Amino acid sequence: MQKNKYDFLLAGAGLFNAIVAREATRRGKRCLVVEKRGHFGGNVYCEQISGINVHKYGAHIFHTCDKEVWDYMNELCEFNHYVNSPLARYGDKIYNLPFNMNTFYQLWQTRTPGEAMKVIESQRIRNDSPANLEEQALALVGKDIYEILVKGYTEKQWGCEAGQLPAFLIRRLPVRFRYDNNYFDDPYQGIPVGGYNRIFAQCFRDCEMRYNTDFCQHREWAKEAGTTVFTGMIDRYYDYCYGALEYRSLRFENKIMNIPDYQGNAVVNYTEREIPYTRIIEHKHFEFNYRTDTTVLTLEYPQSWTPELEPYYPVNTPENEVIYSKYEQRARGEKNVYFGGRLGCFKYYNMDQVVHSALMLVKELMG
Ligand code: FAD
Repeated sequence: MQKNKYDFLLAGAGLFNAIVAREATRRGKRCLVVEKRGHFGGNVYCEQISGINVHKYGAHIFHTCDKEVWDYMNELCEFNHYVNSPLARYGDKIYNLPFNMNTFYQLWQTRTPGEAMKVIESQRIRNDSPANLEEQALALVGKDIYEILVKGYTEKQWGCEAGQLPAFLIRRLPVRFRYDNNYFDDPYQGIPVGGYNRIFAQCFRDCEMRYNTDFCQHREWAKEAGTTVFTGMIDRYYDYCYGALEYRSLRFENKIMNIPDYQGNAVVNYTEREIPYTRIIEHKHFEFNYRTDTTVLTLEYPQSWTPELEPYYPVNTPENEVIYSKYEQRARGEKNVYFGGRLGCFKYYNMDQVVHSALMLVKELMG
């Protein structure tokens, strides 16, 4: 029988396929990587601007509660001790996030958990079956937090009035009765020292790379490989045969400023509806890069997705889940094609979940 030229065709050079590529090439397998963009890294990719690693497709903070994933990632790179502590700006005021005792002091000058709980309880509008996101948020955190910190931000994110959004979008709004601005509850977090790209350079080191190439326009290449792993949009792979899934997109606007520091923090959310962007990222703070006199900012504007835009977020409404389950079922019937990652599985995966699921696939395929 004629041997395949490659053991794996990996469609997409993001994090999912980076892990598959690393594990496959370590086992002596030959991999062809086909990537639509001109570089590896997917949405985790960093672009160097003025000596600063700029998270080109949105701020990425690695965090996990999975010790195995953390140890695995630490084999690939060293992490710094960055702790995500975003701020919210509303009018001329600054608030700490996530909602915690510092935020409550800034809102109401409460000093103890008991005082803060009392205010929240007095503002909550109880509702056992909230009809929309607004009712849900008011039931969870009450009027002030909702109006100052949730409403405008969420409406910008979804491009829609909160009263028109489904309640399930915010099942939980974590409220922390401690003075603790660490956004994540996970025990492990950080940013790779020297940026994320080093991880990808290492993982894809022994692969054949074809950039600026859309796999869907070269499906015949799959015949040259034993197995294909596809990390693009699953609905597109199947030519939208069960209907198109929904995504949200983003527009990023970079600003280079000749000042050492613009906002004193990596992430500042703008929670007013009238300001069109949702947040400003100041990248140097991710890597404590304080020696440069220049700083690079990214303003993030949410937008509706259309086929010429990047599909950043799957929209996991019940209607989309029904459509996705049809694609998933069809995918399960494939012999040598596997789907992975955010777009391949239509799931709101964080990086650690992507690494975990890629390692599961590696186990299934290569033992
Ligand atoms: P992707 O990174 O999307 O990579 C898929 C690759 O496939 C892309 O390079 C794409 O160009 C390519 N591709 C698609 N279709 C084709 C095709 N037909 N042919 C060839 N190539 C194709 N996670 C965290 O843990 N922490 C965070 O702070 C965080 N912040 C985020 C912020 C934003 C704005 C976004 C959008 C995501 C964030 N994430 C975060 C999630 C993180 O980006 C994902 O978990 C991770 O990047 C998913 O990796 P992936 O390989 O599945 O997909």
